[in-house]
Amino acid sequence: MKAKGYFGEFGGTYVPETLMPALRELNNAFQIHVKSKAFQREFVRYLFDYVGRPTPLYYAANISGKTGMNLYLKREDLCHTGAHKINNAIGQVLLAKWMGKKRVIAETGAGQHGVATATASALMGIKCRVYMGTEDMKRQALNVTRMELLGAEVVGVESGSRTLKDAINEALRDWVTNVIDTHYVLGTAFGPHPYPTMVKEFVSVIGKETIKQIMKKEGKLPDAVVACVGGGSNSIGIFYPFIGHKQVRLIGVEAGGMGIETGKHAARFAAGRVGIFQGTKSYVLQDDDGQILQTHSVSAGLDYASVGPEHSFLRDINRAEYAYVVDDEVLEAFGLIAREEGIIPALESSHAVAYVMKRADEFRGKVVIVNLSGRGDKDVDHVVKIQKGEIS
Ligand SMILES: *Cc1c(COP(=O)(O)O)cnc(C)c1O
Repeated sequence: MKAKGYFGEFGGTYVPETLMPALRELNNAFQIHVKSKAFQREFVRYLFDYVGRPTPLYYAANISGKTGMNLYLKREDLCHTGAHKINNAIGQVLLAKWMGKKRVIAETGAGQHGVATATASALMGIKCRVYMGTEDMKRQALNVTRMELLGAEVVGVESGSRTLKDAINEALRDWVTNVIDTHYVLGTAFGPHPYPTMVKEFVSVIGKETIKQIMKKEGKLPDAVVACVGGGSNSIGIFYPFIGHKQVRLIGVEAGGMGIETGKHAARFAAGRVGIFQGTKSYVLQDDDGQILQTHSVSAGLDYASVGPEHSFLRDINRAEYAYVVDDEVLEAFGLIAREEGIIPALESSHAVAYVMKRADEFRGKVVIVNLSGRGDKDVDHVVKIQKGEIS
């Protein structure tokens, strides 16, 4: 039998020896505290009174009327700070407190996870430092200001491509040095064990609520659940409670960027190979020498070269399907949800909507749930620049 932390052949703990004590300590704390009634009570209280859970499962009547499907949107965009990421951040910062840590660190790409961690840290009175590539800091200046307002220290990372993967490397380096008093709040269902399992635990509230809500509204489970896949947290969060219900299709949507053939995308399943990256075994966009490829997506949150290991497993056993849509389709879906339903969605979430719209014929008469992982205020400037032709 394989050691804990594997999903089939995927996952595991591929880290330097120096990180092992930290991961062991974290795993012990996760097993003991997170499963305890007292922790769960405190966590759930934050989710309800602070994050604003349960989030609504909204019947998108206008799009449903036009397409003939019954489309529901799980409104994670209504969470405090505007996306599902706060659920994980609250869980991990709370765990850090229970472990007696005085300080948390986090990586961030677009800044959303950094803002969520800075928020949870302000709430619970714990010191917070966020690593961010300097290229990302330029592109996401508003989120840098938000983090600083929330009392966090933002540290620019100048190495590599100065983006997310470089920020993760820097955060891991900090953690090795300061493990006694520091917890590393990883932002998605990725990385070495126990992160993929732990993050799933904190975000699976999304799927649990969804099952209750759809049973109440439709009296049956949906035909399909669709979510965008970056590192894989909002998708595993809504998928997980449905996995045992085999009749429900689970569909993950990756960033097809400018098209697979251009090489400018982040479609790990369509174009990647199995490999080891940042502590875990999963699908990775890499060249023949195993060098990590540059990725592209209109949405910063899906722009990552690998994907959470449990998704690789779900795909391998044919329990979940993975597809991609390209930037143009995403922008169309973004505009559609805004005009038809009065909701400006995140560009990430717009990937899941775009997939469903593209397959509208196939879904006619079906009950389809899309995880609307976040709100799109952060994307408005970017979309306007694209529309004006200033960027592509
Ligand atoms: C970060 C982000 C994602 C992608 O991350 P996952 O871990 O794959 O969920 C998706 N949607 C929004 C709104 C995000 O901020």
